[in-house]
Amino acid sequence: TLNPAALDAYWMPFTANRQFKKAPRLLTGADGMYFRDDRDRQVLDGIAGLWCVNAGHNRPHIVQAIQAQAAELDFAPPFQMAHPKAFELAEQLVQLTPAGLNKVFFTNSGSESVDTALKIAIAYHRVRGEGSRTRLIGRERGYHGVNFGGISVGGMVANRKMFGTMLGGVDHIRHTHDPARNAYSVGQPAHGAELADDLERLVALHDASTIAAVIVEPIAGSTGVLIPPQGYLQRLRDICDKHGILLIFDEVITGFGRTGNPFGAQTFGVTPDLMTVAKGLTNGCVPMGAVFAQQKIYDTFMSGPEHLIEFFHGYTYSAHPLACAAALGTLKTYAEEGLLTRASALQGQFAEALHSLKGEPHVIDIRNMGLVGGIELAPLPGEPAKRAFNVFLDCWEQGVLIRTTGDTIALSPPLIIEPAQIDRLVDTIRTALRRVA
Ligand code: PMP
Repeated sequence: TLNPAALDAYWMPFTANRQFKKAPRLLTGADGMYFRDDRDRQVLDGIAGLWCVNAGHNRPHIVQAIQAQAAELDFAPPFQMAHPKAFELAEQLVQLTPAGLNKVFFTNSGSESVDTALKIAIAYHRVRGEGSRTRLIGRERGYHGVNFGGISVGGMVANRKMFGTMLGGVDHIRHTHDPARNAYSVGQPAHGAELADDLERLVALHDASTIAAVIVEPIAGSTGVLIPPQGYLQRLRDICDKHGILLIFDEVITGFGRTGNPFGAQTFGVTPDLMTVAKGLTNGCVPMGAVFAQQKIYDTFMSGPEHLIEFFHGYTYSAHPLACAAALGTLKTYAEEGLLTRASALQGQFAEALHSLKGEPHVIDIRNMGLVGGIELAPLPGEPAKRAFNVFLDCWEQGVLIRTTGDTIALSPPLIIEPAQIDRLVDTIRTALRRVA
């Protein structure tokens, strides 16, 4: 068993550390919809690990693919050479993306994918002779990982405030949603597409010829599961097109079936120029991310006066053989079990179950799309995030893992979830809501 006092004897898990010390939670195994903990309990996984284990835990194709790959080719330097599974994976992936997004670059995480996409965007304009386009625009309440690019374009001020200088020339689109008009919307809220017009304000402020890209999550996950109003993403697309600005979708959470299609772009019917993914790409089993780019972006690099070779960017572990094998095993599992569209079949029941929490203590809003949901609670006076965390602790004791972001409970269960497990997930939260302070 775990000795909380000794937790940081050698390891420094930073943010996790404080919470572990209060209530250590040790995971010892996992299978399907469940984690096992050190008390030998089966814990129902309501958040797919951390929005990533979309096919459920310890799936045979993935385990076998990783084992076989480890025994065959453990590493291939990504700069001077390649290995067959990287090509195979790229080919399979672009079959799933929206039309046009048919080039893929491999990274090791969502944060790396974001910084890669931002660099590609700036370099793309430079190769086209528009070197003045270096400004980047994110969104208030956006989350794009923890590297410097990601925290600069991200909208969580708390994540930036300790680190001094951020990337220069970054602005944030105001207001990501309109809770007053859209409370308890089922699926996409009806009102608020015009909130996207704040992008026009930033364009007017800086001149379009200085702006490289806009980056947004189709659904902002880590800042509270904010579903974009109908027409909102299309409006961003139109404004970007009008001004020659690239649109980047960060699909680290929405990618790989979460919204009922392989990617959120398809669910929302809007195609970005660049798209970042991670998490569900390998079902969370091996670290891996990727950036998808429109063919035109790649072609521009190849034809530009400054050749692609001058875009120095790549990681030691780009297209790592174990990660490629894990991703191929993941895609096979998704395909065999129809998981990339399963959320669309289950979203009606999921929405109904979630919205049955309306009227329970502390609940002030419920948001959902596909198999992602947010239940927003009124904060405890003077103690933001505490009430939701109390719900988390209560659910954990009941044998259910959820996640909280601020005072919003976030749900994103593995896409293999059964209807009865959806009910259990929601009933566990109901019980917790009725007894927490
Ligand atoms: N972008 C988004 C939208 C995310 O949700 C996350 C992680 N939650 C990241 C980027 C960062 O991914 P990673 O933790 O793999 O670096």
